[in-house]
Amino acid sequence: MPLQVYSTLTRKKEPFHKQPGDTVTMYVCGPTVYKPSHIGHMVGPVIFDTVKRYLTYLGYKVKWVVNITDVDDKLIKRAEELKTTVPELSARMTEDYFQCLKALNVTGIDHFPRATEHIGGMIEVITGLINKGYAYPADGDVYFDIAKDKDYGKLCNRDPEQLEAGARLEISNKKHNPGDFALWKGAKASEPKEVQYDSPFGCGRPGWHIECTCMAMKLLGETLDIHGGGLDLQFPHHENELAQSESYTDKPFAHVWMHNGLLKLKDKGGKDAKMAGSLGNVLNVADALKHLTGDALRFFTLQTHYRSSIDLGIWDWLNPTTPIPEGMVAARRAYETFPRFAERVERITGQRFAELVAPTKANTIRSFQQPAFGEFYQRFLEFLNDDFNTGGVTGVLFELVTKLNKAADDARLEDPATNNPTAKAEFLEGATLVKEIAQILGLTFEVSQTTLGGGDQLVSGLMQLLLDLRENLRTTAKSAAKDNPLKKPLFDQTDLIRSRLKELGVTLEDRPGGTTWRVG
Ligand SMILES: [Zn+2]
Repeated sequence: MPLQVYSTLTRKKEPFHKQPGDTVTMYVCGPTVYKPSHIGHMVGPVIFDTVKRYLTYLGYKVKWVVNITDVDDKLIKRAEELKTTVPELSARMTEDYFQCLKALNVTGIDHFPRATEHIGGMIEVITGLINKGYAYPADGDVYFDIAKDKDYGKLCNRDPEQLEAGARLEISNKKHNPGDFALWKGAKASEPKEVQYDSPFGCGRPGWHIECTCMAMKLLGETLDIHGGGLDLQFPHHENELAQSESYTDKPFAHVWMHNGLLKLKDKGGKDAKMAGSLGNVLNVADALKHLTGDALRFFTLQTHYRSSIDLGIWDWLNPTTPIPEGMVAARRAYETFPRFAERVERITGQRFAELVAPTKANTIRSFQQPAFGEFYQRFLEFLNDDFNTGGVTGVLFELVTKLNKAADDARLEDPATNNPTAKAEFLEGATLVKEIAQILGLTFEVSQTTLGGGDQLVSGLMQLLLDLRENLRTTAKSAAKDNPLKKPLFDQTDLIRSRLKELGVTLEDRPGGTTWRVG
């Protein structure tokens, strides 16, 4: 089955219309940079980064743009609270956003246009909309007249009255219709000069929706292949983006509208809860990363199909012993299978998992020495071709790794005395397939610095010293005669080292090739 993608506009899955080799243009709404990124801000970037990786794997070129909203009411208010300027705050929070993307291995974004760099283009589109009769100036502001746009509401599939009833609309006696939205906001005396721009409609700044329209068109053309964003942006933001763009160009604004699901949380009593600053339960990415790696957080996000809500589970957020929600704890535990597998690959094959070279292009007629791998491969393609079902693919990965672990156990591949090149070659073929799938999901399975004693060389050195001493004790104990009274106390000492380290959160694993350690 070729790639099918669900579009919010048509409310069905449709065959992806571009041909491999073509450039796919993708625009995803980015952050308003007034606060550090919380985990919800990373859902869209992780999903669309995976979409880009898969499209590239299928042979498309992909150009992906994510905007940065660096002028906005929230930014002005927050800068005032912090007694700083809007440019300083937005620069700092943009850097925080970039760091979070990096931690989650979101590498595919080609351009990050800032709204303030495109004010001229916005003025041009607003002027065009006024000239075509779709927009009207009103006392310093400019509004889009939704009554003039015959198919307004088509993205949400509702008529304007229904949309208005369900939305919190800005009340203004300057508007012709309650649902009219601002394309330009006249400057207020209380606002700082740095957020005011000259225009033919008077001094002021653009509305949020027009920013996306202009930056998308400027960088990707008048019709996008994919427009993405969180489900919470569908109305009013995307409905308004679509209305103003199509009214301006008389062309479709996007072939496919993709909306990702949002995070779902329960409080300690099991009741649905919102993440809100007032409740003290906004989990910033930087704080989450103290408790799980960026790779594990990415895995958590991709475990669910992108159109469904991501279930964080129960969270007793005021309790310092539960710094992250239950759903993330469970995902972290499940994820551990993979870095441990990556370590095992290295022990068996002598090659680092990160350095395994896996194919980077899809091939539906691929043949494998081990036919079972071919079935895994086909299932992986089918899941992703079915509207990017990454949840299904993480299931395939688990099954594949479980199968490979069992094969390695059965053939005793970690025992230096084993000489079974066929089993080893099959294991390597399977491990390379794991790598191929992992790189489409953007997962590295790197044994992180945090699980290796914070990357501290002294800690690593001391641990190795302890392991060497324990190994000496074990060797002496093993070689001691059965009736030697020291035999048992020596073994007891090795067990004591293991249990005392366990109390400190360090796990030892004795293997045929030596002992390894990890935090957790
Ligand atoms: Zn947008």
